[in-house]
Amino acid sequence: MARYVFITGGVVSSLGKGLASAALGALLQARGFSVRLRKLDPYLNVDPGTMSPFEHGEVFVTDDGAETDLDLGHYERFTGVSARKTDSISSGRIYTNVLEKERRGEYLGKTIQVIPHVTNEIKDFISIGDDEVDFMLCEIGGTVGDIEGLPFFEAIRQFSQDRPRGQCIFMHLTLLPYLAASGELKTKPTQHSVKELRSIGLQPDVLVCRSEHPIPEKERAKIGLFCNVRPEAVIPAYDLKSIYEAPLAYHRVGLDQAVLDAFGISPAPKPEMSRWEDVMDRLNNAEGVVRVAIVGKYVQLEDAYKSIAEALTHGGMANRVKVKAEWIDAEVFDREDPAAYLEDYDAILVPGGFGERGTEGKIRAAQFAREKKIPYMGICLGMQMAVIEAARNLAGIEDAGSEEFNHEAGAERFEPVVYHLKEWVQGNHRVERKVTDDKGGTMRLGAYSAALTPGSNVAAQYGTTEIEERHRHRYEVDARYREKLEECGMVFSGMSPDGRLPEIVEHKDHPWFIGVQFHPELKSKPFAPHPLFAGFIKAAKEQNRLV
Ligand code: GLN
Repeated sequence: MARYVFITGGVVSSLGKGLASAALGALLQARGFSVRLRKLDPYLNVDPGTMSPFEHGEVFVTDDGAETDLDLGHYERFTGVSARKTDSISSGRIYTNVLEKERRGEYLGKTIQVIPHVTNEIKDFISIGDDEVDFMLCEIGGTVGDIEGLPFFEAIRQFSQDRPRGQCIFMHLTLLPYLAASGELKTKPTQHSVKELRSIGLQPDVLVCRSEHPIPEKERAKIGLFCNVRPEAVIPAYDLKSIYEAPLAYHRVGLDQAVLDAFGISPAPKPEMSRWEDVMDRLNNAEGVVRVAIVGKYVQLEDAYKSIAEALTHGGMANRVKVKAEWIDAEVFDREDPAAYLEDYDAILVPGGFGERGTEGKIRAAQFAREKKIPYMGICLGMQMAVIEAARNLAGIEDAGSEEFNHEAGAERFEPVVYHLKEWVQGNHRVERKVTDDKGGTMRLGAYSAALTPGSNVAAQYGTTEIEERHRHRYEVDARYREKLEECGMVFSGMSPDGRLPEIVEHKDHPWFIGVQFHPELKSKPFAPHPLFAGFIKAAKEQNRLV
């Protein structure tokens, strides 16, 4: 049976609960324990798949095809443990399950209530796979006091009672605001937040206090006294230059020690921190800078492309350079020549996206990169745009387009080089989709393998010809155009194992031009940069030397 750490937040949102959870996971691993991290989100969406990236940030896709919260991305990047469908749950999913059971008559005529039916559903979920790891870390989204959060707080309270004593601990994140006028750190909001927690039966064992200023010993002791937490379990958390500092920084202030103490694990196994020391060494000692233009649609909110930003940083670490990623709104190129905007960059990346807006601009960005021989990485929609670009400008298919937009726009004359896929093969079975299906979860989602062409650039990047990457899309490049496009120098260098679906394209006569139908950024880690991002930044570095 696993030990459980429940992580909650108070005072304000956006305190970095996900990061603290991920860092704690990494620290427990550094001490030789196995971990799994989970996110319990109180919102009513069944999953974040249908939420706007503007509002909620990126949708993180797992190998088993779940559309999850971007915090799961942090968990994977810090622990290297692949998240599963069962590592992310929302109120919407819980209620859906409960109501479906009710319709099937599984409650035998009982009145369905939050306690025990909803809380039981949450508890069942929390305990999935608890015989597989030493520690299960469960982060509760939102802040204590939120109405939606209550069933989750109640469920974890019950859960800790159901389990043998000492098997569950509670870690609470709060904020110590600083009042410049009096030059003081204020502990009252933290006291109130803990009071709120205790009023619903939860006593934190570890308090993590975010603060922009050093927390004096005296204040630490005071927080401990008023919140009923041992002073050494009041952990200061200061702002960091890079998120990857978090494991070392939290270790220095004793987070992992406090957690192990709370479980009574003594003596604690010694930590092996070399992985994170190496990560920090690469980050702090970069030799030079490369600039990457990201031509996308959701440029206002950086979290919309969180994993891409992180994967680029990892690519930089692999090459010991700092990557300066700048976001350019693709719509600008609908009207203006990309040259003026893109000339000074060492590489261009067109990320994934949905809908027509900005797509002509992305096509022009791909054209610019191809013609000027600037390293180009096209991800998902970015690959589809590169194919449309080649079809129009190299193969002479003037009306080349994608069914995603041309149908919506009702265009009469167009050739669907990218089309809506309605059935495909996953492992050994066939998956079918209808246009009328619900929007949620109807895409080709999760890990699929691809066969790479020996001798291609992409095979060289991976150092293998068999790969598995995560997908999230409805449309596919039509393999019937392969021959025509290959005659013009575009290589279809990766295909689905059955040879039906193009997974990767590249340009032969170009230093580094790769478009992929999947999302390589989701699998990149700071301690194991993804080969495509490492290769892309290497090419950018070479480009940088040319100019
Ligand atoms: N909109 C495209 C599709 O559904 C691309 C999706 C993506 O970039 N993730 O195929």
